[in-house]
Amino acid sequence: MSDRKPFLGGNWKMNTNRTTGSDLARGVTDGLISVDGVEPALFPPFPYLLTVRAILRDRGSSIRLGAQDVYFQPDGAFTGEVSVAMLRDCGTQVVLVGHSERRHVLGEKDELINRKLRTVLESGLDAVLCVGETLDERTAGHQDIITARQVKTGLADIPASYLERLVIAYEPVWAIGTGKTATPQDAQDAHAQIRQLIERSYGKDSAQRLRIVYGGSLKPDIAPDIFAQPDVDGGLVGGASLNAADFVALAKAAAAAGRAKR
Ligand code: PEP
Repeated sequence: MSDRKPFLGGNWKMNTNRTTGSDLARGVTDGLISVDGVEPALFPPFPYLLTVRAILRDRGSSIRLGAQDVYFQPDGAFTGEVSVAMLRDCGTQVVLVGHSERRHVLGEKDELINRKLRTVLESGLDAVLCVGETLDERTAGHQDIITARQVKTGLADIPASYLERLVIAYEPVWAIGTGKTATPQDAQDAHAQIRQLIERSYGKDSAQRLRIVYGGSLKPDIAPDIFAQPDVDGGLVGGASLNAADFVALAKAAAAAGRAKR
């Protein structure tokens, strides 16, 4: 039994251009027109936020507009960075924080991720906090410690009232963009561990309401078994979100899994 509405995010990363991104947004919007029971969100690159926003608005779509990152300062001499106010100005509703590519390719640490997360949630926008272990950490048997550290440090000084606008994405780094996926049981175990951590810090109610989604090479054929796990509340999708039919199929699978748990 779960009242949590599944979330499905499409993280386009540094892909698409204005034409292909527009086609993709139209394809997803049209494919999801009569699909309910899932909260879809698209995370295009910054330069296409307004283009995608216009497409969603023109079609009266409830798909949420997301940004892939943000900086914690409100304005100033931070060349190349983007503030939360700028994202709001472009109609962004939800922001990814701590994606593994930000952590491991661009060197972001837990403390910076926490500042970003606080900035997003304090501003009233929603956030997706991404956590997950690398292959080396998993091989060494440290996945629980790493995930716990990322969750605890990421959520430092974040009050319980903000959790309603937070999704946590468990994304084992070895599964992102590699074609390898966690088994449904491994995903369930990691999600249950995260929910327990939340329960310890914020209480049972907050833990039961929080959506925890899986990310890592999700495809329409394997997703239903993962989405069916009791503590998995949808997904965060990279590669497969670049194909409208795949993303729509994943959204339908997430909605079906959510209905089955009610
Ligand atoms: C991601 O970028 O969050 C992701 C899960 O990517 P992929 O689906 O390509 O593994």
